[in-house]
Amino acid sequence: MPTRYDVDRPTLAGLLSGEPRFRVDQVWQGLYEQHRSPAELTSLPKSLRARLDRDLPPALVPVAESTADDGQTVKWLWELHDGATIETVLMHYPDRSTVCVSTQAGCAMGCGFCATGQAGFERNLGVGEIVEQVVAAARRAEDSSPPRRLSNVVFMGMGEPLANYDRTWAAVTRIHDDLGMGARHLTLSTVGIVPGIRRLAGEALPVNLAVSLHAANDLLRDELVPINRRYPLATLRDACAEYLEAKNRRLSFEWALIDGVNDRATDAEELAAFARPLRAHVNLIPLNATPGWPTTGTPMPRVTAFRDLLRDLGVNATVRANRGNDIDAACGQLRANHTATPVQLGPRRMQPADPPPY
Ligand code: SAH
Ligand code: SF4
Repeated sequence: MPTRYDVDRPTLAGLLSGEPRFRVDQVWQGLYEQHRSPAELTSLPKSLRARLDRDLPPALVPVAESTADDGQTVKWLWELHDGATIETVLMHYPDRSTVCVSTQAGCAMGCGFCATGQAGFERNLGVGEIVEQVVAAARRAEDSSPPRRLSNVVFMGMGEPLANYDRTWAAVTRIHDDLGMGARHLTLSTVGIVPGIRRLAGEALPVNLAVSLHAANDLLRDELVPINRRYPLATLRDACAEYLEAKNRRLSFEWALIDGVNDRATDAEELAAFARPLRAHVNLIPLNATPGWPTTGTPMPRVTAFRDLLRDLGVNATVRANRGNDIDAACGQLRANHTATPVQLGPRRMQPADPPPY
């Protein structure tokens, strides 16, 4: 059965075929502009509200919700109709509110440092399951005090967006066209699926592209990001150049700093040589330790030293604020820990960081 945000306008019109024509606009605006469920649309007759609530069920059932950073970070764990669970994180910054959404339950890419990768792949998310995460965050932002407006969407939650290309792109289109968010406020993050990047280059909407690089030599990247064996760095570089040429959008590289693994001066030099010709922005983040991976994140003084070295080498680099560490807000970690221990709300952890790029 389609869920609330799976149906497009013509399908909704079909569901409302016996009703006055203005009902289609009314319901569509309720869902996409007011971010309300059919049951809350008091301008509709009661029986219609009940019917739509039954015919258009929500995709996401909240299992756990936690806040951190003085309420500036909200994280949800949702259960889907088949029992799969996914995460969504809403982050408020002084000048923007960003939601980080999942595109798959689990992930098949097998990056060893990633909690989602460690758990393996369950299934692709549907369009409605992706869009509803954004709607839930938009609504929460509006309901916070003072009210905030959701401004940015990053596809950096669980899963690999370009391994679920069609549904992810349909969700991007819906978020752009119907939720009214501009393409420059949408960022897709990929581990480096080269055919997907090439396809993206041919799409009409110029979204931002973030590539999770983590290593700029094939030997190390093969180990950290196994898909590199299929799409090695030279191929990835060509696809990134193609995207840049086609879209002229900012390209960024994600680099999780792992103590003693990819945080040495030689790593910075390799990264600079890779990033400079692409005029890419580098986002540094200390690795979040996960139970299934033996190494830890680089300590903050060396993170900033790595950033400074990159800047000296002519690369635009910033340190990403590590939001919601104390609520396991990093990729896949809330889900990984939820079954074992209840969500603990810890004290806010301050970390020196540059303003976020998203
Ligand atoms: N699959 C996509 C998007 C989801 S992962 C991708 O890999 O880009 C989102 C980001 O979180 C990626 O940059 C990923 O490398 C990073 N990440 C995963 N596990 C992490 C960890 N333990 N610490 C820090 N960053 C992590
Ligand atoms: Fe998948 Fe991204 Fe995690 Fe790699 S880092 S396992 S691609 S979610």
